[in-house]
Amino acid sequence: MASGPEHNHEMDRGAQEALVRQLRQTFAGLPNQIPLFLFSQRGKDDVFVDASRQVIRAFRELTDKITLKEYHLNHELAAKWGVESSPTLLIDPDRYQIRWLGAPMGEEGRSFLEAMMLLGMGKSDLSDQSMKVIERLDGPRQIKIFVSPSCPYCPQQVVNGLKAAIERPDLISLEIIDIQCRPDLAEQYNAHSVPQAYANDMLIGQGAQQEEVFLSSLLKLEPQTIFIPESTDKVVETDVVIVGGGPAGLTAGIYTERSGLKTAVVERDALGGQVALTPVVENYPGFTTVGGKTLVDIMVNHALQYVQIFQGESVLDIRPGDPMEVMTTRRKFLTKTVLLATGASHKHLGVPGEQRFSGRGVSYCATCDGPLFKRRKVIMVGGGNSAVTEALYLQHMGADVTLVHRRDALRAQDVLANQLAANGIPVLWDTEVHAIEGEERVQRVILRNNKTGERTEMAVEGVFIAIGYAPAVDLAEKIGVAVNADGYIQHDGFHRTNVPGIYSAGDVEGGYKQIVTATGQGAAAAMTIFEDLINPYWKQHKEWRKAKAS
Ligand code: NAP
Repeated sequence: MASGPEHNHEMDRGAQEALVRQLRQTFAGLPNQIPLFLFSQRGKDDVFVDASRQVIRAFRELTDKITLKEYHLNHELAAKWGVESSPTLLIDPDRYQIRWLGAPMGEEGRSFLEAMMLLGMGKSDLSDQSMKVIERLDGPRQIKIFVSPSCPYCPQQVVNGLKAAIERPDLISLEIIDIQCRPDLAEQYNAHSVPQAYANDMLIGQGAQQEEVFLSSLLKLEPQTIFIPESTDKVVETDVVIVGGGPAGLTAGIYTERSGLKTAVVERDALGGQVALTPVVENYPGFTTVGGKTLVDIMVNHALQYVQIFQGESVLDIRPGDPMEVMTTRRKFLTKTVLLATGASHKHLGVPGEQRFSGRGVSYCATCDGPLFKRRKVIMVGGGNSAVTEALYLQHMGADVTLVHRRDALRAQDVLANQLAANGIPVLWDTEVHAIEGEERVQRVILRNNKTGERTEMAVEGVFIAIGYAPAVDLAEKIGVAVNADGYIQHDGFHRTNVPGIYSAGDVEGGYKQIVTATGQGAAAAMTIFEDLINPYWKQHKEWRKAKAS
């Protein structure tokens, strides 16, 4: 039997060929032509022009539905369509107002693929709830979304913009702006984190939003954080609803579906959870080194072979009963069991200036925002694996990074600590951030040595924070699931919570919080669910009590 790296490459090639076949077939079934117009000027951002050509060429090899015409920036069509910078890519400008300033490369390749599919279909594919919101729009909206090629959250926000611009081409225009290609515009809009969305020059969203939340923000011209649907008439029946599409939830989905249980994975944000934001993973067996997002893509593709994933959908409530009702922003699931794999969200420092400058120099995602800080002085706060991995990544991106840690020893593993030293990244030991200051954006931090009490000021343009995670237990607490003293979900060792039919897995349970432990917990929880559905412990418990009472 073949084994070793050659065998893996063969499998990779096989999977890639299958994907290409599938894409060709999908494009072949699309009814519309997709005309693209690329405007450029030699000598101006050639690297982005070349990257745009490469991406478009790769797509055109899949289908002849995509056509490309190239023009110089001086061409009369540039004036007709108001094109001013190189490169600018216009998508079907006779029908829509959609343009890319920069190249759709890296993660933005996904947005581009989605754009091609939607335009090829000729419809927005907005949810019923979103349609109700967009119908209320009565004035024009010029959307600008700032993105970077390394940002795994960005495509979700871009796709929101695309759908809106496709649904209402009469009212809505969309500019997708790569901050690396157009740092001038990022500077002008003070967009120092990605994705950031503006409409009519007003900030409407920082970070990726769910589709309905994005549209409500677009309608109201200010950031909305929650969307409550008017009614959810769509009903889906399942055996298991998994809340959370990180490594635990995805693994559980593979296991439950393979056991014959009808399963739905519901994920509010980007799939993969924290792993998607980890620049490099070096301790997941089978991969000596792999990008976090790449590992997520592999897991998601694997999970999709079995289980349906409802992404961009938020679980609002879980109502007990037989079946239980799981209400989301788009539908109602009737289900026998629920697995909470909601993970954890990053912690805040809680110092003055942190909130005010969030997205204005304060960042919790080095992978997303790192490219903005090339040749700029930044600090990375924290001493764990995340802080060290991300400090190394920032240096790799060309930032001048200093690690600021509150103790005199790192919590990070030796191998990472050694890399930090080998790369000459300075560390300020026993140091806490006291305040983050600036005018429009971060300009300096006030630091305090907690041994000597000495305060210093340091001029920086970026403050990256990686000080651990707090479990995401809002939903669990709302439905009466017990948490322990540290705030993590309590379970019986087999991932059963105190609420019958509700289980937990992954970082929300605490413990070691590694990708490999999360996948293990997901698998174990799935197997418990399978056992319990054959032989429901809560029914046994009820019958036992009835027998005891009689
Ligand atoms: P972590 O291991 O909990 O470390 C958090 C760090 O932030 C600690 O050094 C802590 O200081 C510091 N900190 C906490 N609160 C602070 C505050 N208010 N002010 C200043 N500093 C503060 O978190 P993490 O690094 O995000 O890692 C989370 C989990 O993911 C871990 O289990 C980790 O192993 C895993 N992970 C693994 C990898 C990898 O293996 N490649 C990469 C990323 C994450 P003290 O040390 O003083 O407590």
